[in-house]
Amino acid sequence: MKCRICAGKAIIGLPQHNMALCAEHFDNWMLKRVSKAVDEFKMFSKKSNILVAVSGGKDSLALWDILVRLGYNASGLYINLGIEEDDYSDESEEFARSFAERVGRKLYIVDIEENHGMSIPEKAYTKRRKPCSACGVTKRYYMNKIARNESFDVIVTGHNLDDQAAALLGNVLYWKIDYLAKGAPYSPPIESGQFGKAKPLVFCTEKEDAVYCLLKGIPYIQKECPYSKGATSLRWKHILNEIEENSPGAKHAFYFDYVRNIDLFQAKEKEEELPPLTCEICGAPSWNYVCSFCRLWDLDKRGNLSCDMDQN
Ligand code: SF4
Ligand code: ZN
Ligand code: ZN
Repeated sequence: MKCRICAGKAIIGLPQHNMALCAEHFDNWMLKRVSKAVDEFKMFSKKSNILVAVSGGKDSLALWDILVRLGYNASGLYINLGIEEDDYSDESEEFARSFAERVGRKLYIVDIEENHGMSIPEKAYTKRRKPCSACGVTKRYYMNKIARNESFDVIVTGHNLDDQAAALLGNVLYWKIDYLAKGAPYSPPIESGQFGKAKPLVFCTEKEDAVYCLLKGIPYIQKECPYSKGATSLRWKHILNEIEENSPGAKHAFYFDYVRNIDLFQAKEKEEELPPLTCEICGAPSWNYVCSFCRLWDLDKRGNLSCDMDQN
C-alpha cells in the first residue's frame, strides 16, 4: 500500500476516499478534516473561547490535540462520574489530566461524587433509572453550566462520523423527528450571550481517531464505559460497518445527505427550540418549573449548587 501523495509506505487505507496515506500525510489530512468541518459549518473562529468535553478516550483527546495544533483557544472539561467498575472513572480522569499537562491547557474537573455525595450509578439505582439516562442529564447540566459561568463561546465534543451515522440510523428507524431535527454537526447559540455546540470530528472515523492518537503518542483509555455494553448505538455501528465494507463511502453519504436536508425535519421544531422557563432551583433554562437535573439530584431550594470544580 503506497501513500497517494508521496508514494511512500502507507500506514492507513482510506477506502471511502479510494486512497492510502503515509504517517506524515495522514497527520496533515486529519488537521484538514477538522478545519474543513469548522469552516464548512461555521463552528467557531480563532477568537472563540472553546470548551472541549473530554472523556479520556481517543476521540476527545485527538480532537483537543488537533484544535491546539491548529491554534485554537481550547480548554478541557472532564466530568468524573464515579464509575468504580474497572476503575473506569479514575483511570479516564488520569488520561485527561496528563493530556492537559502535555498540551499546557486548562482542564476543568467536576467530581460528581464530591458534589452530590453519590456516584452516577448509585444515583441511578436510587431513582430506578438507567445509569446512562442519569449520566446524560448530569453531563449536559455541567457542560452548560461551566460554559455559561466561564463565558465559553462553544462546547465541542468528540463525536465522530461513526457516532453521528449510528445516531441517525437509530433515529430514522424509529422516526424520532424531534431528534432528527437536532443531528447537525453544529448548533449555533439560540440567543446572544449563549454558546454553540460543535462536533468538529464529524468528517473523521473512529479508526482514524485511534490511528491519530497512536501516531502522536497520545495515551488514552482503551476500555469502554462498563455501562455501554449492549448499547443499541453499538448495534447500529456494527450494521453500518458491514454496509461500509461492501460500499465504501456509504456512511459518509448517509450522514451528510441527511445534513444537507436537515431543514425538512427542523421546520416543525422551530417554535420549540428555546426552553420557555427558568428552573426555580438552579436558574437554568428549563421546560418545567424544576429542571430534569434538579429533579434527578433531589435539590431543593436549600440544595448546594456551588458547582465545585478543580482547575489545572
Ligand atoms: Fe455515561 Fe457510561 Fe452511559 Fe456513556 S455509557 S452515557 S459514559 S454511563
Ligand atoms: Zn505520503
Ligand atoms: Zn435546575
